[in-house]
Order: sequence, then structure tokens, then C-alpha cells
Amino acid sequence: AQTLTEFDTISAISTPIGEGGISIVRTSGEDAIKIVNEIFKGADLSKVPTHTVHYGHIVDPATGKTIDEVMATVFRAPKTFTREDIVEISCHGGIVVTNHILQLILAQGARMADPGEFTKRAFVNGRIDLTQAESVMDIIRAKTDKARQVAVGQLEGGLMHKVKAMRQEILDTLANVEVNIDYPEYDADQVTAKQMADTSKDVISQIDKLLKTAQEGTILRNGLATAIVGQPNVGKSSLLNYLTQSDKAIVTDVAGTTRDTLEEYVSVKGVPLKLIDTAGIHKTDDKVEQIGVERSQAALKKADLVLLLIDGSQALSDEDKVLIKATQDKKRIIILNKLDLGQKITVDELKEKTGSEVISTSILQEKNLDELEDLIKKLFFSGIENSNDQIMVTNQRQSGLLAKAKRELEDVVQAVNDDIPVDIAQIDFNGAWDTLGEITGDSAPDELINTLFSQFCLGK
Ligand code: GDP
Ligand code: ZN
Repeated sequence: AQTLTEFDTISAISTPIGEGGISIVRTSGEDAIKIVNEIFKGADLSKVPTHTVHYGHIVDPATGKTIDEVMATVFRAPKTFTREDIVEISCHGGIVVTNHILQLILAQGARMADPGEFTKRAFVNGRIDLTQAESVMDIIRAKTDKARQVAVGQLEGGLMHKVKAMRQEILDTLANVEVNIDYPEYDADQVTAKQMADTSKDVISQIDKLLKTAQEGTILRNGLATAIVGQPNVGKSSLLNYLTQSDKAIVTDVAGTTRDTLEEYVSVKGVPLKLIDTAGIHKTDDKVEQIGVERSQAALKKADLVLLLIDGSQALSDEDKVLIKATQDKKRIIILNKLDLGQKITVDELKEKTGSEVISTSILQEKNLDELEDLIKKLFFSGIENSNDQIMVTNQRQSGLLAKAKRELEDVVQAVNDDIPVDIAQIDFNGAWDTLGEITGDSAPDELINTLFSQFCLGK
């Protein structure tokens, strides 16, 4: 098992990877200041006061070459995010420069931080508790205003109170069980068994309501995974460019460290879309002869929503038909693009053939794109309850534990039905109480904590 006290020096890029005004490389740990000082020229960071910013240059010690003009901020423990020494280098945005600086820091002896490791240290070093950490993560990861709203609601304790109330209900019943066991003169077993079964049923129905919100919550949190597919030249890149215009793109994020895993998030009328494999879309362009079907297939697997582009000014090609078939079980929109060049295929005809949503557009002339966005929004919300003031479960850890508690309570009901002795049924009843406690962080084994923090983005 991984131990929770690791105090080596860690470093990571803490801003979204991509082109931006600035990027920040954060280094935390005992040697943070010493390590950065080796590559920073401008001030002796080992001598500067805490919480101060210094202008200077990053210089590669091996070559003597200047890498970037930067600002270095020094935070000395304990009043820092991690409660350790931290140095943040604000450099010019851009993947190459930022990565280069990170590599230099690693070469000086820092270790690449695991996802969420900075926040984990804040937790391990006692600065924040587990529930705060989880809400912080959700707020960081919120892709739209709605998602952020849900996360803030959670930080304020909506779900926590709900779970605590359910635990209290179980605890009250358990207290009664104990009382009844202490007064065995009447038929205690039957009374307590009924009480446990009743409470179990009641809590199960509350859990069910929460679990219902989980799917929507997950999509709100992670974005609707969306694949843009289609033959070369149908307009995929054009659509991607339209969707990622600056007013729509929310955040770019990385799961790994390489460019290949770049994911882009856009907000379409408030609906968060996580665009899958956008690097792949660009790549197929480089070699037009390389038909994108195989690549599309991989993206399709992960997709909650498929935007299938077809050149509507041409007759349907065999490749189009292959893609129509490959996506038929998905939530999808077929987009007949190049409307401005005339239409060889009509919307109605294709609707009838495929049974799916079809729309014709001219991405070039920005025709019908607003309607396309409406359609995406409609598909997203289809089958989802309007949940404005509802407490929502937005995270898989929480929904997993709710499901486990539900199973335990169902076992209690079953045991009581089967006339199994009360003290046996009580084991699952106690179990459900413990399981719900894990949600609120009242019991937090190492393993849980490691899992939780591993869900964070790199650099957080
Ligand atoms: P991709 O290969 O699927 O990514 O297609 P691109 O987005 O690169 O577009 C291929 C070509 O079609 C480019 O020259 C675009 O300008 C053009 N194009 C994209 N959408 C339209 C459209 O709606 N009408 C017309 N006439 N051309 C378009
Ligand atoms: Zn393209």
C-alpha cells in the first residue's frame, strides 16, 4: 500500500496545457526552492522572503541557454497550499516552453507529481479535510456554470447533510436494537427486526432518488463525451474550429503528458461537451488518403454523443454508409454539411433511413449552426429530469458507495423476511452505516484517499 506521508519534492504544470497568456509550473517540497534556484537567474530564491514574486530568466544549466523570461513566486512553509515550500514559475504559455521548464526541474531532482498530489499533500498535512478536497476537485473540474453550481452546492454540504441524515436514521434504529436486546422480556427480536427492515426500506428509497441523479451528475461533471466523425473533407475540422471558438471553449485539459491525449471542452448552450480525440481529427487531415474510419472507431467507443458529418452535396458514399451503421446505437446527430453547394441527400430522406436526428448545415457560411446547437442541447437533456434545486451525486466514488449501502440494506430486508436472527441481519445494517460514513469522509482508509486524489488532474 502506498503510504500517505511522502515528502519528496514534486513538480507539475498547474495550468491547462495549451496556448495561453501564461502557464504555471508548480514545485512543492523540501527542496523546491533549492531546485528551482538552480535554473532561475534573477534573484537568489534561497534568500528572498516568503510570498514574494521575482522577475528573472530560466536558464538551462547544461547549455547555458535562456529558455524563457519568467516570474518566480516563492512560498515558504507552512502558510502554503500544501503546507510545504512551494515555488511557482509563471512562464509564457505554450506547451514547448512549459514542458521544457518542467523537464529542467525534474532533471534537478524533483519528481513528476501524480494527479492531485498537491491537493493530497494539503490533505495529508492537515490543511483541508476530505470532503473539502472532493468539492475543490469538482469546482476545479466544473466545465460549465451548471456543473460549478452543483459542486458549490456540494461544498456547502447538500449531499453531506442528506447522507448524515440517513446515517442518523440507521443509528437511531441501532440504538433501539440495543435497548431491545437489553430488555429481553418481550419479543424483542421481532420488534427490532421489523424496525431494521422498515428503516432499511426507507433509506433505500432515499438512496434510489440520489442514484437517479448520478448519471446526469456524471455528465455534468465530466462533459458529454462527443466524437466528431466523418470522411475526409466533409468539414470535421471546420466544425471543431467553430465549436472551439474562444467564446465556447471552456478549458483544455490533459490526462497524460503528451499532446495525443489533449481533450477539449466546449460549452454548447450550457451543455458541456468533451470533444474526443481532437488531435486525431487534425491528424487525418495531414494524410487525406488515410480514411478516418479506424481512428473514428476508437473515438466512437468512448462517445456518449456522435456528430456524424456527411457531405450532403454528394450522394452517400459507401464509407458514409459504414459510419452510419457503426454509429446507429449511439446518441447521434447526422449533419449534412455543405448545404451551400446544393443537396443531393435530403434531411427527411436520411431521417427516415436512419431514424436519428438529421440536420443540414453550411459550416463554411455558418448556416444552421445555431439549430445544430439547439439539437445537441435537446439530445443532452432528453431523458434527464430538470434538477435545479435537487441534491445531485456528481461523482462515481459517491454513487458507488450509495449503491453498496443500498445492497447492504437490501440484504437486511431479505434477512428479516427470511427470519434470519436479528444479530446476523444487524451486521449488514451496521455495514450500511459504515459505507455511508465513507461518503462523508467519517471513515477514510488510505486506499480511499489514494483513489480519490488520483482522480484529480495533473498539477492540482
Ligand atoms: P475535414 O477533412 O472533415 O476535417 O474537413 P475540413 O473541415 O478540413 O473541410 C474540408 C474543406 O471543406 C475545407 O476547404 C472547408 O473550407 C470546406 N468546407 C467545410 N464546410 C463547408 C461547407 O459547409 N460548405 C462548403 N462549400 N465548404 C465547406
Ligand atoms: Zn479536418
